[in-house]
Amino acid sequence: MLEIKNLHARIAEDGTEIIRGLNLTVEAGEVAAIMGPNGSGKSTLSYILSGREDYEVTEGDILYNGESILELDAAERAAKGIFLAFQYPVEIPGVATMQFLKVAMNEQRKARGEDELKTPDFMRLVKDAAGKLQINTEMLKRPLNVGFSGGEKKRAEILQMALLQPQLCVLDETDSGLDIDALKIVADGVNALRSPDRAVIVITHYQRLLDYIVPDTVHVLYKGQVIKSGDKSLAHELEANGYADIIDAAA
Ligand code: ADP
Ligand code: MG
Ligand code: MG
Repeated sequence: MLEIKNLHARIAEDGTEIIRGLNLTVEAGEVAAIMGPNGSGKSTLSYILSGREDYEVTEGDILYNGESILELDAAERAAKGIFLAFQYPVEIPGVATMQFLKVAMNEQRKARGEDELKTPDFMRLVKDAAGKLQINTEMLKRPLNVGFSGGEKKRAEILQMALLQPQLCVLDETDSGLDIDALKIVADGVNALRSPDRAVIVITHYQRLLDYIVPDTVHVLYKGQVIKSGDKSLAHELEANGYADIIDAAA
């Protein structure tokens, strides 16, 4: 589903190279975890996948279902089913969460040539999905992410994902700022999305989240490259021994 080949990318503003020859393949049905020390380029990679314009790809390619997405803007990528849950979800003042969700779902349907959702149908979908994530309807009346706690923001991200049913989900440190109960709710939400025709990339610092979202593959990102890949046992190894040995071995 996703094939990143020798990707090099830099910050558009000042030309600093952050991604330096990154290779990564993620198959449909797979849950891939990306780990790595702070400043490795994990968030940058997720921004580049989502099509943020602050970064320039200078070399290599990103293939999604066999086609390069480099020329597509963020909206076109979203319409093709790429969804990014941000490490720091953006606040959208003045728009009730409910309204935001409705617009997002209808934008997606429009891009696919489908009719607008009827309000009762939308309400049924949103109530059902929110209930599973233990999000109450009062929260949905408030502007998206404005004054939400860390845990509420993360749950709101998973709610968007549950409603939009993307094909490729990228979760950037969805575990940060979550207490253990919220972590389980979020993990259940992600696990409910696991399916043979969907791929999930989970970016995380800690093994803890991977106890609940068990990955098929684990990749270590360091200085803009994947320096080691393995199965879930690699995450346990990192938790026990840290990154130093793997970084030394790759040097
Ligand atoms: P990670 O998510 O792995 O902690 P990031 O992708 O956030 O790493 O950052 C990688 C490196 O790139 C860091 O050194 C960070 O300071 C730098 N960086 C990323 N984006 C920008 C930007 N827009 N402006 C300046 N520096 C940036
Ligand atoms: Mg970081
Ligand atoms: Mg980050």
